[in-house]
Amino acid sequence: MTSNMMKALAKTKPKEGLWMVNAPLPEIGSEDVLIRVHKTGICGTDIHIWDWDEWASNTVPLGLITGHEFSGEIVEIGRKVTELKVGQYCSGEGHLVGTESRQSRAGKFHLDPGTRGIGVNEQGAFANYLKLPAFNVIPLPENIPQEIGAILDPLGNAVHTALSFDLLGEDVLITGAGPIGIMAAAVARYAGARHIVITDVNPARLKLAEHVVPSVRSVDITQEDLHDVTHELGLREGFDIGLEMSGNQKAFDQMVDMLVMGGKIALLGIPPGLSPVRWSNIVFKAITIKGVYGREMFETWYKMIAMLENGLDVSRVITHRFHVDDFKEGFEAMKSGQSGKVVLDWQERHA
Ligand code: ZN
Repeated sequence: MTSNMMKALAKTKPKEGLWMVNAPLPEIGSEDVLIRVHKTGICGTDIHIWDWDEWASNTVPLGLITGHEFSGEIVEIGRKVTELKVGQYCSGEGHLVGTESRQSRAGKFHLDPGTRGIGVNEQGAFANYLKLPAFNVIPLPENIPQEIGAILDPLGNAVHTALSFDLLGEDVLITGAGPIGIMAAAVARYAGARHIVITDVNPARLKLAEHVVPSVRSVDITQEDLHDVTHELGLREGFDIGLEMSGNQKAFDQMVDMLVMGGKIALLGIPPGLSPVRWSNIVFKAITIKGVYGREMFETWYKMIAMLENGLDVSRVITHRFHVDDFKEGFEAMKSGQSGKVVLDWQERHA
C-alpha cells in the first residue's frame, strides 16, 4: 500500500454534522481482515449520529468513524485467517459479538448481550478501509451489485423481521414504509404472502413502496381507513401477520386492532421512550409479539443471499447515489424524508 492514511467520515465535534478526516489505516489482528470499502449505505442510525441527538451523544465516542452498511473487497488477511482470501468481494455483519455468553455458546450469536456495533461503538465503514473480524465477513457472489452489497445490513433487518413467521398464503400488514418496511414487503411478496398492505403518513414513501414491490397495497392512513381496505381486499377477520417498522404508537395500536385472533406481530420499530399499550387487547386476541434485533448470525445472511440470487429484487429501493466527496448531499437526501436508501461510493472517481 502506498499510503498508511485513508479518508473517513468521523464524528469529530460534539455537534450536528460529520467531518471528512484523514485517519490512519486500521491495523488488523491475527483473526481480522482489512476490507477496501466500495460502497456504503446511509442508515437512520447515521442520521441520529449526524444530528447528535440524546441517544447519539450518550452512545457514540467522539472521534468515531461512523457507518455500518458496506460492500467491499478483502485486501489483507490476519495470520490465523484461513477461510478467506485477498480479493474476495464481501459485505459483513456489523455486530461484533463474544463467544462466552449463553446465547453465543448456543450458536445464537445475534443474541449475545455484549454485542458492539461498528460505526456506533467501534470504528466504522465510512472510510476507505475497514477492519473486521474474519468471523463477521460475508463473502458475496459477484452477481450481487456493489450497491446491493452495501444495503445488506438493512435488507437483513427486513428479512429477519419478515421471516419471523410463516408468510406463505398469509395476509400481511406492514406499518412504516421506510426502506426497511418496503424491503420487508418485497420479502413478504417473495415468500408467498397473499395480500400485503403497507401504511405510512408520507406519500413519497408509499409511492416508492408501490414502485419496489409488485401488487402491494399502500395506505396513507391520514387519507384512508384500514377497515375499508380490509373490506376491499375481502379480509373478513383481519391480517394474519403484522410487521411493525415505524416505532409509532398509533401504528402499533392499529395493527393490534386489525389482526385476526391469534395473529402474530414482529416488532422492529423502536418507540421513543415509554409507550402506553392496551395489553388487554393483546391478551384477549391471543396475539404473539416478537422483538427483532439485527440479523440472525448467520442464518439471515444465508437466506438473504439465496433469495437475491433467486430473483428477490430490492434494487429500486435505492433512490440516491453520490460519490463520498458529496456526502453532504447524501445526508440531505436522507433527512428530506423523500428518499429510499442513499448509497455513497468510496472508490476513486474516474474522469
Ligand atoms: Zn443500518
